[in-house]
Amino acid sequence: QVKEKGKGHFRFYRSDMKDAFPNYILMEAHLRKAIEMNEFVMHYQPQVNLKTGKIKTFEALLRWQNRKFGNVPPSQFIPLAEETGLIIPIGEWVIHSVCSQLADWRNKGYKDIRVAINISPKQFLQTNLPEIIQKALFMNQLPASALEIEITEGAMEDTIAALSMLHRLKKIGIIISVDDFGTGYSSLNYLKRFPIDILKIDQSFVREIQVNEKDAAITKTIIHLAHNLGMEVIAEGVEEEDQVQFLVSAQCQKAQGYYFSRPVSAKEIEQKVLYI
Ligand code: C2E
Ligand code: MG
Ligand code: MG
Ligand code: MG
Repeated sequence: QVKEKGKGHFRFYRSDMKDAFPNYILMEAHLRKAIEMNEFVMHYQPQVNLKTGKIKTFEALLRWQNRKFGNVPPSQFIPLAEETGLIIPIGEWVIHSVCSQLADWRNKGYKDIRVAINISPKQFLQTNLPEIIQKALFMNQLPASALEIEITEGAMEDTIAALSMLHRLKKIGIIISVDDFGTGYSSLNYLKRFPIDILKIDQSFVREIQVNEKDAAITKTIIHLAHNLGMEVIAEGVEEEDQVQFLVSAQCQKAQGYYFSRPVSAKEIEQKVLYI
């Protein structure tokens, strides 16, 4: 699928993208204006420490409310943003939005909070990403330890570029986690070579932890793997009490999911979580 982009430029679209939503050209036009139209907002989902019950970290999840398309789920607009390169300005907006929220929380007395930001593969290959993050930290007077970035295994496929980016981010003091661990390009080699702090067990393993022996075995193995490598581990997509029990007995440190809370606005986080 080829679309003319003026001045003899052509842009290629993956055909599965077009199948996913035929409105994609119109949607791209709206997405292009979403920042200036103030259509983005960050939601935050608590991550619960299973030993202490405390909540000190949140995952930031982007929400897009558009007048034509309504609430568009990230599963639709993030791939479109990646494909069109719009993820670069959008990602920068996310970083600044999260840092300003963190500064606001710190000013209100919640000092030791950390937020995890999702970084898509194209953003991760953006060479000035560390400078963008550093600038946002500086402008909001935040320590680097207040930020965590989540990258997927796919972002690490270009090993040399990924390794150098991770080292630059670690040098600043950013915490690095691997999102959806176990679903992508899973080479144990990168766990050995890359400066990774946290593994996030993908929700597809957690979902049937109670009934599927293989999912249970994989989850336990990832927990052991993380511990043996000196990394932290968190389970995603926890919806049931039974899953919490399983994870506690398997010594998983943290969990995140609808069982504890859906992703909610910063205001709701303040009202329902931070007052504790
Ligand atoms: P992810 O980073 O793996 O985020 C977890 C997704 O699972 C989120 O979906 C979250 O709302 C959802 N979730 C959390 N707990 C549960 C649960 O108990 N059950 C179920 N079924 N789902 C749960 P969401 O917010 O729709 O985001 C989808 C994906 O979009 C994210 O997956 C992430 O890859 C991407 N994304 C979201 N925000 C951003 C962003 O700011 N930047 C980038 N680059 N990607 C983002
Ligand atoms: Mg994530
Ligand atoms: Mg995930
Ligand atoms: Mg994901």
